[in-house]
Amino acid sequence: MSKKKIIDESKSRFTGIEQTRTALFRELRKAGICYIKDIPWGTHLCVFYETDRDLIDIAAQYFRAGLENNEYCVWIVPESISPAVAVSSLQKVIPNFALYLQQLEILKFSEFYLNNGNFNRDNILSMWEKKVAAALAEGYEGLRVLGCTSWVKKKHWQVFMEYEAAINKALATLQIIGLCPYPLVKYSKHEMLEIVSNHNFAFLKSRFDENTITDLAKYERIELVGKMAAGIAHEIRNPMTAVKGFIQLLQSKKELADYNDYFSLMIDELDRANDIITEYLSLAREKAKDIKEHNLNDILRAIYPLLQATAVRENVDLVLSTGVIKDVYVDAKDVRQVILNLARNALEAMPGGGILAIKTYMASDKVVLEVSDTGCGIPQEILDNLGKPFLTTKENGTGLGLPVSMKILDSYNASVNIKSSSDGTTFIIYFPSKGSDV
Ligand code: ADP
Ligand code: MG
Repeated sequence: MSKKKIIDESKSRFTGIEQTRTALFRELRKAGICYIKDIPWGTHLCVFYETDRDLIDIAAQYFRAGLENNEYCVWIVPESISPAVAVSSLQKVIPNFALYLQQLEILKFSEFYLNNGNFNRDNILSMWEKKVAAALAEGYEGLRVLGCTSWVKKKHWQVFMEYEAAINKALATLQIIGLCPYPLVKYSKHEMLEIVSNHNFAFLKSRFDENTITDLAKYERIELVGKMAAGIAHEIRNPMTAVKGFIQLLQSKKELADYNDYFSLMIDELDRANDIITEYLSLAREKAKDIKEHNLNDILRAIYPLLQATAVRENVDLVLSTGVIKDVYVDAKDVRQVILNLARNALEAMPGGGILAIKTYMASDKVVLEVSDTGCGIPQEILDNLGKPFLTTKENGTGLGLPVSMKILDSYNASVNIKSSSDGTTFIIYFPSKGSDV
């Protein structure tokens, strides 16, 4: 370890965990997957594939990125691809493949996951930890794995999903990148959702969809962004708090009174940056929810003064009409955030003033929340890519308001219908009501 590094570490204010995270996020790795570019250590990916050819294509690009970047690579092959076929298919695609033979291990699934036909989650987890340690000891930068799930039968499903969930957490602190391939045809939609929720990023590889990012991938990209945002937020917030503290200190000095306006401006900008980080952070999934029975009208009434004050400032008439509605099961904070995001967008779409109308009513057994404005309408490109983060038409926009809102609504099985034209935009949100089937 160089002297400089020792000095740096001794000065650091971060805790051990934050230091690990910092290092993990600093050293991004090439994914070797066309949908995503660079990923941090600890990323747990999954691909739904159709044919062995698809799997081999994925493996070739994925391992090429790993081998060329000094990672130790492990491929656990399904019964339909022999180790010899695996080697020859990689050889065809990876330049100078012979140089990497020591850096690659190809195992049959039966040698790895099963012991006398039984799957033991903890054994496999500790096996991965040992493999990472061995790879680091050999001088590699970490471990890149392509797992195998073709052997997972109904009887293994529960325990295998528990393993995926556990590994999703465990990987986060290890120098490891894992990709789990799942045969596309084998799983129901519900099973696929469970698989996706146990990974940071999911994508499809099939002849139906070669190059486009799929809905599944789009959703999971938000998860990955969230995970990365959570990891770097402290790093950005800590120095910002220190800077703000010093500015406030200078602001209190009599001899600097002439510069008071500048100091206030600097603090406002720091607060704005902080707000943006908060918004990014709400994309992170590890947020404990406080789900209770709520009436949307109560939530609306509670934030009405805030909405009203903002609307007046923006020269907009706020019209609230609350119907008799059933309760819904939600975290009130989430619904508040959705309403504020939509209202903020509505106000920003009406710079010259207009009407912001918020309504609640019942439509069969759904509780409907409608937010409409008389603004400029949502550009087609945004409508076509609804839910994709970072799409904004505003100079100071983050492009996160709609993705965050969609993700929240999705988590409550609420469906959204958007009507938008040059006369204005209406978001119609249908919440399942208490006691109704979803
Ligand atoms: P941001 O507001 O930071 O740009 P959002 O995700 O909230 O990010 O919105 C993305 C984009 O969608 C906006 O930049 C805007 O072009 C469009 N948009 C959203 N809501 C409305 C609306 N009510 N009227 C017109 N355009 C809208
Ligand atoms: Mg917005």
